[in-house]
Amino acid sequence: MVNDKGIRVDGRRVDELRPIKLEAGVLNRADGSAYIEWGENKVLAAVYGPREAHPRHRQDPARALVQCRYNMAPFSVSDRKRPGPDRRSVEISKVISEAFSHVVLREQFPRATVDVFMEVLQANAGTRCTALTVAAVALADAGIPMRDIISSCAFGKADGQVILDLNKEEDNEGEADVPIAIVPRTNEVVLMQMDGHITKEEFDSGLKMAVDACHRINEMQRDALRRRYSVTTDTREAVKAISEGV
Ligand code: ADP
Repeated sequence: MVNDKGIRVDGRRVDELRPIKLEAGVLNRADGSAYIEWGENKVLAAVYGPREAHPRHRQDPARALVQCRYNMAPFSVSDRKRPGPDRRSVEISKVISEAFSHVVLREQFPRATVDVFMEVLQANAGTRCTALTVAAVALADAGIPMRDIISSCAFGKADGQVILDLNKEEDNEGEADVPIAIVPRTNEVVLMQMDGHITKEEFDSGLKMAVDACHRINEMQRDALRRRYSVTTDTREAVKAISEGV
């Protein structure tokens, strides 16, 4: 899994992320949307709301609900996945909802719901981190007020070495997988799960690696939003011309 030069099966160093491409505002009908390619993972996110929550008995009179749905397309994995929710996707939807509930300013929208849909089109380990990262951009694209844009990445262990952002092979053969998500501004952890075994020292060094990576990912999320909303000189001049009645 990791050779004596510290190089992994896919050529990465132990603390290296897979390549990430992110784009905000890719769907016309959603209030906010984004698309990400992270290594071989491909995930689309769409956000609706804030809108009145239905059925009404689910409404919270003090704050908005943040309802997330993580879904894997049947063709996203090598063996066709049975369509529809399963234990795993219900769990992932729940932990991602909890993470966003910490940062969305829910008190501003009593009785409302913010709905977040994440569609995994292609999966290669780390899809919950990928889905959360792209959904955070879609939420910002929808103009949902949040304390920060949260970012996510996993660390783990393979061949006795602490590694960042496990791919499928490392996830299958490795000793541990620890996905986390943080609020970059404060470094608060809003998601943490663990599968496998790891020592306290390995955990500490892996956590530091993943937190550093989340800060790099946050910069990519902000870049995607900047690209979507940047006003070019041409646009500025056109707006000025229109306002002056030219
Ligand atoms: P994560 O994608 O967040 O790492 P898991 O650790 O549960 O979540 O899954 C690891 C990987 O296993 C997924 O990214 C995907 O590539 C694969 N996988 C998950 N569910 C299925 C499934 N039902 N059939 C085939 N492969 C799957």
